[in-house]
Amino acid sequence: MNFVVAIDGPAASGKGTITRKLADELELTVLPTGDTYRCLGLEVLKKGYGIDQVYEITELARQLDIQLRNVNGKELVYLNGEDVSNEIREPAISKLSSLVSSIVKVREQMVLLQRRMAEGKNVIAEGRDMGTVVFPNADVKLYIDANEEVRADRRYKEYLSNGINITYEEVLEQLRWRDENDKNKKVGALKKADDAILIDTTVMTIDEAVEKIKSEIQPKMVKKKSKESKSEYNEDDFDM
Ligand code: C5P
Repeated sequence: MNFVVAIDGPAASGKGTITRKLADELELTVLPTGDTYRCLGLEVLKKGYGIDQVYEITELARQLDIQLRNVNGKELVYLNGEDVSNEIREPAISKLSSLVSSIVKVREQMVLLQRRMAEGKNVIAEGRDMGTVVFPNADVKLYIDANEEVRADRRYKEYLSNGINITYEEVLEQLRWRDENDKNKKVGALKKADDAILIDTTVMTIDEAVEKIKSEIQPKMVKKKSKESKSEYNEDDFDM
């Protein structure tokens, strides 16, 4: 079975936490597509490329070697064999990832990479264009939102707990910049798919959101599984 849940929404909307809880409970593989852009941002920084070096950056995107590994229950991101899980969360990389992801040719490569990463698996993919571009035929589509101040507060606390020295005002300003940039991309802009279910975590706790979403996903998973097992049964019948 290839079951796909597509989750989109702005930064710090709670979609990352919700995605991981759902993945655990429903045994789905997490595909955090923001990490693919973050890895590219890190590569660009390491190579010292300017954001206008479109050809070089697209080549980097084409050759990107990313592996997501679960080590002792921790989700780690490896880039060219090296653990970059912490480095890619730095504020400078957040900005750079948004900049590199605005390059249309880069997005073409990333969409291919993300689809390859999902191949043959039951996935829960989170990002900005999951329901609109990468997985337009996803089995379930969700758009997770929350107001700006709530999101900035969440990200600020996350940075503090990771030992990153930053003020709330700086976080709010960065978030506003990133929202603006993400919503105004020529391709793959942050946008709710017409058929996505809207979940607002300003007023809902993460656990409430998870329960609500689970009740949307579970019946569809069961239905798809039973449909596929029936068709397998028929094929076997035919072989005999
Ligand atoms: O989700 P996360 O905040 O880690 O994503 C980092 C950046 O990567 C986003 O600000 C966005 O610009 C970009 N992105 C994207 N499309 C996706 C996922 C992330 O453009 N599907």
